[in-house]
Amino acid sequence: MVISKKFALISSSAFLVLAVYSWANSDGREGRSPISSSFAAEQPPEVTPTLARERETYYPNSEDLNPDEMRVVACGTGMPTTRAAQAAACFLVELGNGDKFLFDIGSGSAERISSLQIPYNYLDKVFIGHLHTDHFGAIHDLFIGGALMGRNRPLRIWGPSGAVPELGTAHAMDGMMQMLLWDLAARVGATDPRGYQIDVHEFDYKGENQVIYEENGVVIRSFPAVHGVDGAVSFGLEWNDLKFVFSSDTYPNKWFVEYAKDADLAIHECFIAVPDIVNKMRFTPESALYVGTQIHTAPEAFGKVMSEIKPRMAVAYHFFKDFDTTAEVHDRIRKTYDGPLSLAEDFMVWNVTKDDIRVRLAVTEENTWSPPLSEPAIPPGKNDRETFAKNQGLPVEVVGYSDFIAGGAWNVDDVLRPVYKEASEVLGREFTYPADQ
Ligand SMILES: [Zn+2]
Ligand SMILES: [Zn+2]
Repeated sequence: MVISKKFALISSSAFLVLAVYSWANSDGREGRSPISSSFAAEQPPEVTPTLARERETYYPNSEDLNPDEMRVVACGTGMPTTRAAQAAACFLVELGNGDKFLFDIGSGSAERISSLQIPYNYLDKVFIGHLHTDHFGAIHDLFIGGALMGRNRPLRIWGPSGAVPELGTAHAMDGMMQMLLWDLAARVGATDPRGYQIDVHEFDYKGENQVIYEENGVVIRSFPAVHGVDGAVSFGLEWNDLKFVFSSDTYPNKWFVEYAKDADLAIHECFIAVPDIVNKMRFTPESALYVGTQIHTAPEAFGKVMSEIKPRMAVAYHFFKDFDTTAEVHDRIRKTYDGPLSLAEDFMVWNVTKDDIRVRLAVTEENTWSPPLSEPAIPPGKNDRETFAKNQGLPVEVVGYSDFIAGGAWNVDDVLRPVYKEASEVLGREFTYPADQ
């Protein structure tokens, strides 16, 4: 069992640390412990009844990001079979130059992102590895909810082409905008309109380590993945001599082995072990073997990939990480890989610098509201509905109520007028009640 091994490791390292410190104390030596930092902090924390000690947990919005530092937060590590404990694939990369990037945005991940309380103008760049719902199923939540929570600029989306245009990202995003037509029609004229636009960059899925983004010292490249049908890709991000790679979904492939080499942080899918696909997911053995080893990367194969590319930290994701499934995944990876390893779960955090990779879990708030705006909002314009109707080719009268529906509104003006009056008095400017406009 990996759990018991892990506990054993923790308890034995704690014992070692205690032993070292007492040795250091008895020897009268101070300063750095001779024990490797992988065992424990190199200096014992000063312990007093009143002094706060360094936290071993990441609390979002409580730590500055250093200029040379990369922070990666798992906002989803799960599967298309949804569960409350794990959203589907999504990793946030934050850089010390201020840039932030989302890699995949699977179902359920938008709630994780909101828990980080990051102003939404900073979350305007999304890179989609392939068009399975567990990798882009929350894009509309980030698009609409992000605009409502303060993103007052278009959402920028990068994704691969497909074997035919109908299987590409641009087609999928066109479809999303069609799906959202009622949503958008029913919102226009109510809030700042500037966030309700997407800016889609479809790139060739066959590009081999092609640059798809280059701004502000950050270079993002894509390379093909082998997953389902043509049109899946993986990504590499380089900045400040740090390299992050993200497989999205793929069968082990030559491109990842070549272009992910020597990454600082290498995130690669790692599927549930085949026996658990049968036991937990109720697949037939035939399906379990095929899905678990041929469509996805089996733990043994994940280990083989990582042994080849030798990252400073290998990150396995895309399995339900439970007390009775983790050991199986871990032990199978360890048959083929003995380097640094994180078995990802939601809200795992990696702080990456040239000297260190610190792995922690975040503790987040669930009852979050909109974070502060990085740029002020503007009120809706008087012509927003007309402009929307014209752009969408709709009759202007359908962007609003028909006489039939408007006639169904019950008159509660007597209790609502005072709200406008109150706002006018408190804020010192006149807000005209809509019926009087
Ligand atoms: Zn997939
Ligand atoms: Zn997937």
